[in-house]
Amino acid sequence: MKKRFGNVIGNAVNIELLATELENGTQSHAYIIEGPVGSGKHTIAKEICKALFCLREGEDFPCGKCRFCKLTEAGYNTDISFWSKGEKATIQVDVIRDLTSTISYAPDVGKYKVYIIEDAGKMNVSAQNALLLSLEEPPSYVVFLLLCTDSASLLETVRSRAVTLKTELFSTDFVESWLKSSPQVEKSGADSTFVRNAAIASGGSLGAALAALDIKADGSAALAKEAEVMVEKLCRAPLAQRLLYFSSLKYSRGEYEQLFTFALKALRDLIAVKTGSGETLFFTDRESAAAVCSRVKMKKLVELYDAVSAADADIKANASSNTVLTSLACSKA
Ligand SMILES: [Zn+2]
Repeated sequence: MKKRFGNVIGNAVNIELLATELENGTQSHAYIIEGPVGSGKHTIAKEICKALFCLREGEDFPCGKCRFCKLTEAGYNTDISFWSKGEKATIQVDVIRDLTSTISYAPDVGKYKVYIIEDAGKMNVSAQNALLLSLEEPPSYVVFLLLCTDSASLLETVRSRAVTLKTELFSTDFVESWLKSSPQVEKSGADSTFVRNAAIASGGSLGAALAALDIKADGSAALAKEAEVMVEKLCRAPLAQRLLYFSSLKYSRGEYEQLFTFALKALRDLIAVKTGSGETLFFTDRESAAAVCSRVKMKKLVELYDAVSAADADIKANASSNTVLTSLACSKA
């Protein structure tokens, strides 16, 4: 049977209606996607993007098979851009001016250009006013997706020019039964108690529930915790403390490999949070990731990612773990 928006779970958003509009090309030029953290706003946004660009090479819609579905899924569709407040408390007018200055250029590769504004409720009034003109009369190829937790913080003039889609958190029971039916559970070897706990800990977010399982699947939660400490030390601690910390680690080669895998996932999250793109995979939510990387520069995060990747490669190439850890502790980043 043909699946429409198969990756979207739950019915908070009227998926049938949205899918029909997208399939017929009669979609709105702007959507406000509103809902609490972890309620799947990014999932809906990604599905809308896939549907806009999809070449329809299969029965499902979006097909998930065509070049554009794959590009979009992997985050490499250059006609989709993300805009956010970055390090600032609000999205200021210069961000929106940068955005609107690119609107008149035709799409790179597809039929559309999608502008995703993260935390759109954090746009200050002048930023919202700067966006208004583009919201009123965008070129036909432009689609805006405004993600926010509460659309009340948007001006009425902005809200009236977009269609609002609401997402909701799920009940613990729903998350538990959804987890039980997901293939990841079997793969992770999680027992029913663990599944129940993951559902409770998820706070109603399917993404957070899966992240909890992912950690289970990859080995032990203790190693994940250690990876978080390692990343914090790398980000913040002075050299002497880093050396002390790394010299205190006593793990097997296999455990170091897992530790570095976790650390790379965590750093990837931090980079994603900095650039305002995507959901977190390692941290349970954007807030806890943001807390770790506040006041840490993007350049440093990228350098740390490279340093941990190098350590990971060295461990896999059988280098002595002492040497690997010492050079990681001393990495210039
Ligand atoms: Zn497709």
